[in-house]
Amino acid sequence: MSYIDIQNEVIEEYRIDLCDGSKCKDGDWSRTHAHPKLRRVCKWKQANSVQSTFTLFHEIGHIVANTGKMRRAEEEYYATLWAIWCCDKYNLTIPPKTINEYQDYIDRTKGRGVRRGGSDYDDFQLPVDHSVIPSLLGGICTIQGSVSKKTRKKSTLTNADQKILSAFGYKFDLSLLRS
Ligand SMILES: [Zn+2]
Ligand SMILES: [Zn+2]
Repeated sequence: MSYIDIQNEVIEEYRIDLCDGSKCKDGDWSRTHAHPKLRRVCKWKQANSVQSTFTLFHEIGHIVANTGKMRRAEEEYYATLWAIWCCDKYNLTIPPKTINEYQDYIDRTKGRGVRRGGSDYDDFQLPVDHSVIPSLLGGICTIQGSVSKKTRKKSTLTNADQKILSAFGYKFDLSLLRS
């Protein structure tokens, strides 16, 4: 499978709505970004490279590995963890440089949060040993209890979400799933 094939498969599996920026309300955003509730990824440039793939997976991570109650540094950390998990799933090797760049980004985001008075942050270190990632992600994928009943009814969880969450040992309310 080429990188493009893998990207397209993950986009389809997680029902991601790709946007060239024309659907963005804030047209000033120049960088790739995600709208978790809309399952939308904007301004991502598809290329047959591991960097392009990791960028996409990170943005999908913002959609999939997000409780909706996270601070920015947490969002960045778990989105990146999910991206690593997804790369592992496809046996893609992530360049150490890329991991370092994301770790720096998480650290900067955390630093900003701390300067603004945030406290009780975890380390948010991306693990060298990837086998711990499912349990790290499993800790945040507690959708029941963290999402209001109203939101849950409108939930856009897909079968792929169910698969990943049950792989992390999270018990699922099947009524949350779209058919
Ligand atoms: Zn947008
Ligand atoms: Zn991000």
